[in-house]
Amino acid sequence: MSNLSRRSFIRRLSFTGIVGAGAVMVGCGGGGESATEMPLEEVPDVGMAADESFSCMDTSGLTPAEAAMRTTLEYTDTSPETDKNCKNCVLYEVPVEGSDCGTCQTVKGPIHPLGYCTIWAALPA
Ligand code: SF4
Repeated sequence: MSNLSRRSFIRRLSFTGIVGAGAVMVGCGGGGESATEMPLEEVPDVGMAADESFSCMDTSGLTPAEAAMRTTLEYTDTSPETDKNCKNCVLYEVPVEGSDCGTCQTVKGPIHPLGYCTIWAALPA
């Protein structure tokens, strides 16, 4: 835990207590622990949103089952919901240094901060 940002830790605790059971049913293992997570408020999303070439859709490192889950949950780099995106989802893990894409505790592979999928769940207020 020492390598996690405080906010990430709090989100993990909240997720475990609030929606953990659902994630166990849907999930396929926790997101990997990162070496150095970027604080959530520092995730650069405005510039990336304007840069259409920025993508977190590379699934080449995933197993077929992991890639299928992304498809089933309709993961997309661009959220169709105005106020819902990965960055404000309880399951989102901020990028580690050296990466612009974050990760997700349930959906495997690179995750765009402004992405979205059908199991989005709000960060606790
Ligand atoms: Fe993961 Fe979906 Fe939440 Fe994005 S919206 S962080 S892909 S659960």
